[in-house]
Amino acid sequence: MGHKSSSPIYALGSPLGRSALAVIRVSGEKIPDAIFAKLSVLKEERGLFVRRLAFEGFGDACLVLNFPAPLSYTGEHMLEIHPHGNPAVLSEVFSWLEEEGLREAEAGEFSKRAYLNSKLSLSEAEGVALGIEAESREQLAALEDFRGGVLGEKINLLLDGLEGLLVRVESQLDFSDEEGVAEVESAEIKNGLLSALSDLELLIKNYMPFEKDSLKKKIVLIGRPNVGKSSLFNALVEENVAIVSAMAGTTRDIVRKRVAMAGFDVEIEDTAGLRDQTEDEIEKEGMRLAKEAAEKADLVIHITDNKEEASLLKPSEKTLIVLNKRDLHKNLSSGAYLSLSAVTRDGVSDLLDKIQESSLKVSSKKLVSERTYKKLVAAKGLLTTDPLGRDFFEFTAQILRDSLQELRDIYGDFDNEKILDQIFDKFCIGK
Ligand code: GDP
Repeated sequence: MGHKSSSPIYALGSPLGRSALAVIRVSGEKIPDAIFAKLSVLKEERGLFVRRLAFEGFGDACLVLNFPAPLSYTGEHMLEIHPHGNPAVLSEVFSWLEEEGLREAEAGEFSKRAYLNSKLSLSEAEGVALGIEAESREQLAALEDFRGGVLGEKINLLLDGLEGLLVRVESQLDFSDEEGVAEVESAEIKNGLLSALSDLELLIKNYMPFEKDSLKKKIVLIGRPNVGKSSLFNALVEENVAIVSAMAGTTRDIVRKRVAMAGFDVEIEDTAGLRDQTEDEIEKEGMRLAKEAAEKADLVIHITDNKEEASLLKPSEKTLIVLNKRDLHKNLSSGAYLSLSAVTRDGVSDLLDKIQESSLKVSSKKLVSERTYKKLVAAKGLLTTDPLGRDFFEFTAQILRDSLQELRDIYGDFDNEKILDQIFDKFCIGK
């Protein structure tokens, strides 16, 4: 970031544009007196004030929040100004703040200051960022352990265990001449290491690194040409993104569209029709893609427009059978399939219900920041190193120290500017 880390900064904390209210945050070790004077707020008076901010030719009624240090998000003196969310008003406020010597904050700069002033741990800061970045209710729920401190407690237990082992190993370094004792100790320490390792492996198994698409579910539509896959696809995404055609085999590329269904990220793929045989090489490729997509899908919707075929097809935990073109069929008996019409949309809502009840709901993985995940994996890598042929106590002490460091880094006790910037650069401005 390169700037002095305590010079006064400001940023818009709400989206740019027109809104009822906007939030402007200000933070600095010293905020210029002129700012308090214009706001008619006493510097040391913590509280909330309604003020009319005067500009050239007009004024705006604002809410002003004053947080003298250290009781603020950043630990510095902070102000929040909530004017009306009009871009012209905002630009007046920004110009005024800049005239008073403030500069616009960089991404994550408020949170970085909070970290440097011990207001937030690194993983808490990351939790704040991921809580803003998460794209669905499911992602937020999966982040809860990480953001709510449950993971932190588990890591603390692990740290306690490893620290205890290190103490035992280090005491052996001083007494390693007494052979008998050393043997008993080394067996117990090995057991301790194994149990710490299995706790760590369990954590790694239950958590995964947060990415934009983590937990995204994939639905694939398959079926013979012309059964109405594209039409159903359109009905599901309620947009005409796939080509609907009366000619067989037109959907050769897989059309993807992500839709948010009840808080899930769902990707629907409309694939080329599955045929028993075809001369057409391009269509063959399409079929290959369809099969592949079905293998990778979380849920397959197998569509047919033929009653007999619908009764022959077997649904499974991962496959729903759909008989399309209900409007054209007479005397439908009930079966293991769902009948609907992609064109009249009759029955489409039943399919949506089925999708929601399906296996898509099941997701046991929880999310952590990518950095945290890498640290857990690094610590595991260290703890699995084989001490064979090396001085056991010496070697074990070293891997314990190194893995403790990896785990402690999760909460951050370091001030390496470069690493910090890498973490905070990913935040949004104003956070
Ligand atoms: P795809 O090749 O499987 O993707 O099938 P399309 O979605 O392109 O549909 C093939 C043809 O069937 C088009 O002419 C659609 O209008 C028609 N079609 C699709 N769904 C229905 C339906 O529910 N009822 C009727 N009557 N026609 C449909």
